[in-house]
Amino acid sequence: MRDTRTAIIIGAGIAGPVAALALRRAGIQATVYEGYDSPTATQGGALAIAPNGIAALRLVGADEIVIATATPSDRMAMSVDGKRVPLPTVGGVGPYQCVDRNHLHRALHDEATRRGIPIEYGKRLVDVREPADAVTGVFDDGTTATADLLIGADGVRSTVRGLIDPANPGPDYTGLVGVEGVAAHTVDAPPGTMTFAFGKKAYYLYWPEPSGGTRWGANLPYPRPMSIAEARAVPTERWLRVLRETYGDDHPGGDLIRTTDPDRLQVTGSLHIMPPVPRWHRGRMVLVGDAAHAPSNSSGQGASLAIESAIQLARCLRDIPEVTGAFATYERLRRDRVERIARRAAKLNHAKAPGPIAQRFMKLVLPVVFRAMNPEKTLGPELRYAIDWDTPVTV
Ligand SMILES: Cc1cc2nc3c(=O)[nH]c(=O)nc-3n(C[C@H](O)[C@H](O)[C@H](O)COP(=O)(O)OP(=O)(O)OC[C@H]3O[C@@H](n4cnc5c(N)ncnc54)[C@H](O)[C@@H]3O)c2cc1C
Repeated sequence: MRDTRTAIIIGAGIAGPVAALALRRAGIQATVYEGYDSPTATQGGALAIAPNGIAALRLVGADEIVIATATPSDRMAMSVDGKRVPLPTVGGVGPYQCVDRNHLHRALHDEATRRGIPIEYGKRLVDVREPADAVTGVFDDGTTATADLLIGADGVRSTVRGLIDPANPGPDYTGLVGVEGVAAHTVDAPPGTMTFAFGKKAYYLYWPEPSGGTRWGANLPYPRPMSIAEARAVPTERWLRVLRETYGDDHPGGDLIRTTDPDRLQVTGSLHIMPPVPRWHRGRMVLVGDAAHAPSNSSGQGASLAIESAIQLARCLRDIPEVTGAFATYERLRRDRVERIARRAAKLNHAKAPGPIAQRFMKLVLPVVFRAMNPEKTLGPELRYAIDWDTPVTV
């Protein structure tokens, strides 16, 4: 008989609600517990879900609700010192979908609750107890919850990761802070184009807003990590000054910063990546999403990998009766893929702040490199990944 009928999921970001929807499809009843007080009390900002992430969402019937709030992007370009070069793309996979994080959380929350999945807010996991044949989550308000297993979908600063193994590493700070805004300035780029720009001092990206203006995201070099609360305590004017100092001479970076209304500026916090996590599971606890594998945001895959892992975990729990075997099979299905993508993204990260000489060189060489690039080979396996939900998983 199957060991798992009920699950506690820690975290109602992306992996948590998707895992709950997939478990529901696999016949397992999950309850999600989230530390924040509401679905929209998040770090904010926008993120792009890759075609493979959208394909995975389709398996739990959540693709349409996400697409409904998103702006599609099917063209990409790279810009060095103002010179924009189209990036070759993989054909036939569909666009990336750029979503506001708050809208995404709200959509997943609404879909989960519509299907009868309880999500409890204001519940921060602080500890676990491990009686025989069950696991109990202990929350900071003194309450507890018990189920057959506990899934840590609690993000890059995961508490569950340390409860599984105190020797598991924590996240590495990239030296960058995310800041986003919407500018009145209109960029010279076709609709649906996301441009990755190497400024003189730092990296940024931008895409035209369908309603007018341009949405941009900056990766601002900053010597130490800061919490969202710390970052938001810094007055917006001061962030704008730092942004002007960093991007003021860039094209179109300078215009984007200068025409951004302070009310439309958001600090989305320090950017972290996870080094490989040695232990993804122990006993009746397992990790999913950024808690297990957070690639650099240069990968454009963090959210999509979180969605895929949540669904593969549910498939394994559906088909493999015993928990340890199910967790081990899930890890076997996922580890190689997520670590390969993390390695590719780490290489891109090194190229994010080229000096002036490297910039001149990139400007000359990139068009040639892109013409010779075979996107099908480099990105095809990432974007075409498809989960075969109906095929039974074997140990
Ligand atoms: C600035 C920025 C831009 C990004 N852009 C992209 C992008 O364009 N495309 C992309 O694919 N990815 C992007 N990412 C990465 C993406 O956001 C993550 O990969 C994704 O959010 C992972 O989902 P998750 O559910 O695993 O974790 P999260 O989304 O971080 O959710 C974790 C949830 O767990 C909750 N939680 C944490 N600890 C506890 C606890 N102890 N008890 C209860 N609840 C807890 C948190 O409050 C949170 O709601 C970006 C990240 C950043 C920071």
